[in-house]
Amino acid sequence: AMSLAELDPDVAAAMNGELTRQRDTLEMIASENFVPRAVLQAQGSVLTNKYAEGYPGRRYYGGCEYVDVVEDIARDRAKELFGAEFANVQPHSGAQANAAVLMSLMEPGETLLGLDLAHGGHLTHGMRLNFSGKLYENVFYGVSKEDFRIDMDAVRKIALDTRPKVICAGWSAYPRTLDFAAFRAIADEVGAFLWVDMAHFAGLVAAGLHPNPVPHADVVSTTVHKTLGGPRSGLILAKKEFGKKLNSAVFPGQQGGPLMHVIAAKAVALKIAGGQEFKARQERTLAGARILAERLTGSDVADSGVSVLTGGTDVHLVLADLRNSTLDGQQAEDLLHEVGITVNRNAVPFDPRPPMVTSGLRIGTPALATRGFGDEQFAEVADIIATALAAGAAADVSALRARVASLALDFPLYEGLERWGLM
Ligand code: PLP
Repeated sequence: AMSLAELDPDVAAAMNGELTRQRDTLEMIASENFVPRAVLQAQGSVLTNKYAEGYPGRRYYGGCEYVDVVEDIARDRAKELFGAEFANVQPHSGAQANAAVLMSLMEPGETLLGLDLAHGGHLTHGMRLNFSGKLYENVFYGVSKEDFRIDMDAVRKIALDTRPKVICAGWSAYPRTLDFAAFRAIADEVGAFLWVDMAHFAGLVAAGLHPNPVPHADVVSTTVHKTLGGPRSGLILAKKEFGKKLNSAVFPGQQGGPLMHVIAAKAVALKIAGGQEFKARQERTLAGARILAERLTGSDVADSGVSVLTGGTDVHLVLADLRNSTLDGQQAEDLLHEVGITVNRNAVPFDPRPPMVTSGLRIGTPALATRGFGDEQFAEVADIIATALAAGAAADVSALRARVASLALDFPLYEGLERWGLM
């Protein structure tokens, strides 16, 4: 019955260091969030002990009567929240969910059309070194050189030319909403399945603040840990007729035993995502991103060669374009890190710099919105970022760091966590 700190002080110390880092810095990685206490509790629970291969009512192990209840609740909440006929909540991650989606919709060697990784797509949408790039024929659409937006006429032309089996709509770095009806029309025209990967914007969809892909797509996959604010994991939604194949593709196709503690945490997160407080949080997330985009298009920033891709945002992130800045993506990421703001460098489409350096930053607002930030705090953090990027190497790091510290102090994170018995 030893505590973690007693049994393993080395791991405990690193975990405490991470807690302090999360508290003292401003988290603006667009794919991250802070889960609430109830999600931590579910995920750190005795459900981690249970094997439950199979699905509720049809398990390959005994003793599943309680985890069946948990998984049924999670599936029902996922269907209800997004208006889907079918849900599978077992994928361990977004990538596992996507592997199962593709396994259920196509055979190796058939053609997958997705958004180019270099234009904001995800590894699992056909990248060369990923399973999706190795198993399937891959063709890609991208954003247009003129406005950096996806041009649906160009998508239609590639689809007509290559006749894919599956068309993927979804992104990891794109600041605008997608036209799901147009993707559906193209899929119907060429006889393809439409798969939407809403990993990034699922929380906005749940809150009714972003178009819902579920009515348009055959299959929708998502992570649960980004805007949706739940445990690190994935889930799949679909029209009923795809359910059987999807279930079989997740288990036994891609996975063994489901992580029942994570499924319990998913259920909790999905309950939260159906509430009014969650909606208000997503509204603050969107408002924060707009405030940031506006500040980063200010004249002082423009004079330094920094701009915002597409000139703004419809979602929870902003893509800063550093192609004309003296800072490259790596230097800008490092500068903000010194200031106490965590972001990730990100290639911009047509990036002249190599992928490990890049000419862009992806800056997201979900985690700070969860922390409680509203318009006033987002205006302050936007000004800190703008001031740093405009000044570049000449930035007054200690002054900016003090402003970050003051924001972090005003919005305490995981207060009392040490007493919850989870650390
Ligand atoms: N799909 C998209 C669009 C993503 O952005 C991500 C996360 O980076 C994933 C899938 C993969 O999720 P995970 O990291 O949980 O495997």
